[in-house]
Amino acid sequence: MAADKHPPHYDPENIFAKILRGDIPSKAVYESKDTYAFHDIQPAAPVHILVIPRGYYTDFHDFTMRASKEEIADFWQSVDSVAQKLNLLENGFRLVTNTGKDSGQIVPHFHVHLLGGGPLGPLLSGSDI
Ligand code: AMP
Repeated sequence: MAADKHPPHYDPENIFAKILRGDIPSKAVYESKDTYAFHDIQPAAPVHILVIPRGYYTDFHDFTMRASKEEIADFWQSVDSVAQKLNLLENGFRLVTNTGKDSGQIVPHFHVHLLGGGPLGPLLSGSDI
């Protein structure tokens, strides 16, 4: 879907939509036709990058159902390109995507957190289960 059109369930005023439009600043790491990657403003690891599609998708499920095969391929190839560019392949990294209420997703534009740059610890910190 073109970035200037959005479905009714998508809030075009979310912070990542504003970043994509250039309305608020971000620190770019990587760009492709359909994907944009930038530094998280509150890093949870030595390297914390957010990778987002330029198209308007609310979460992982929305992206998987509505994005074109080309956008999906571009997205995951871009995630890998970021890991390569930041030299994370040798020591490894973690990908996280929050989807919906139980996950605690805050920004309703699909994004993958790419975390690395040092040992990341347990998958979920503070979990009782
Ligand atoms: P989530 O909880 O998965 O929706 O994650 C949203 C992420 O967006 C958090 O890690 C925030 O620190 C990050 N974030 C919020 N606003 C900005 C911003 N203006 N620039 C970069 N990252 C942001």
